Amino acid sequence: MTRLLSLLLLASTVSVFGHGPGRTNDFQGRRVLFIGIDGCRADAVSEAMERGLAPQLKALVESEGGLFTRTCYAGGDLKTPTHQPTVSGPGWSSLLTGVWVDRHRVKDNRFLGARFQTYSHFMRRIKEVKPSAWCASFADWPPIHENIADGSRVQGAEFLDVKFTTRPDASRHFIDNPEKDIEVRDEALKTLRTQDPDAMFVYFGSVDEFGHGAIDERASFTPENALYLNAISHVDSHVGELLRAMKARPKFAEEDWLVLVCTDHGGRGNSHGGDSDAERKIWLIAQGKHLNKEDLTTKPVPQTALVPMMYAHLGIVAKPEWTPPPAPESPAPVPQTEATKK
Ligand SMILES: [Zn+2]
Repeated sequence: MTRLLSLLLLASTVSVFGHGPGRTNDFQGRRVLFIGIDGCRADAVSEAMERGLAPQLKALVESEGGLFTRTCYAGGDLKTPTHQPTVSGPGWSSLLTGVWVDRHRVKDNRFLGARFQTYSHFMRRIKEVKPSAWCASFADWPPIHENIADGSRVQGAEFLDVKFTTRPDASRHFIDNPEKDIEVRDEALKTLRTQDPDAMFVYFGSVDEFGHGAIDERASFTPENALYLNAISHVDSHVGELLRAMKARPKFAEEDWLVLVCTDHGGRGNSHGGDSDAERKIWLIAQGKHLNKEDLTTKPVPQTALVPMMYAHLGIVAKPEWTPPPAPESPAPVPQTEATKK
């Protein structure tokens, strides 16, 4: 083979596999799988793992590079402008942008005044740095996409290569949420098997609806409730399938995945939104080769720490203009309506 021909072949390989399998992506094989479990209390996930109801999460924690921390917290810092209610709108905004309410301005599930153009979804930032990166998001709580992702688009330009949204039936008290979680799981599995994602976000909503007593009125947010633990157990099996599909990737041995599993808030009784430990103290399960286990398990881990962890894994240096200081403004908080609760 001539040197010219091999150079041409090399060039075409690079362009075809810009977001290819193994090490041929934009990040030398490093990739991110971020799994979100809505409304999952820390003591309940702990109890589920201890009682053999969450064997997949337990195995992830116990695998090489794995950890489980309960030093993670939602709701911002009390008595500061970052203090935010422990509900899904602010919670997922913080988990997906890496900033609190003083910056993203999401005070409830209506997203009024959200500032995602300035404080954007982390996948928009990944694409800004590496336009050929490949990012996918799957969720059965539509505001994840309709507000947080779409609100982050630059002049309406889509940055997600897959954006799968499915909607549980509010008129039926979200009774179909477990089935919607299965749809989310199956679409995410398809992507892991047939595409070469650099970053994936996979969101499951049913645990929160069990906590609310929406799907079954006997259920509530507590580790003593068998129905709530059972809901966690179901999502645990979905997590297991995602991890199996990840490990079954043909060039998995060359790939370097960071897996994060987290929640937006806890709960008490059948609700959440307040400042109790049951609502604010959350958890993080992480697995990867480059994690600082000591820091993550002994120091407080704000919900806003996940985006920087993902950037660090991918080798992305966050630009100062991604998180400018918050502008002074503090309109009165508006009560959320029943229909938008999560
Ligand atoms: Zn909820």
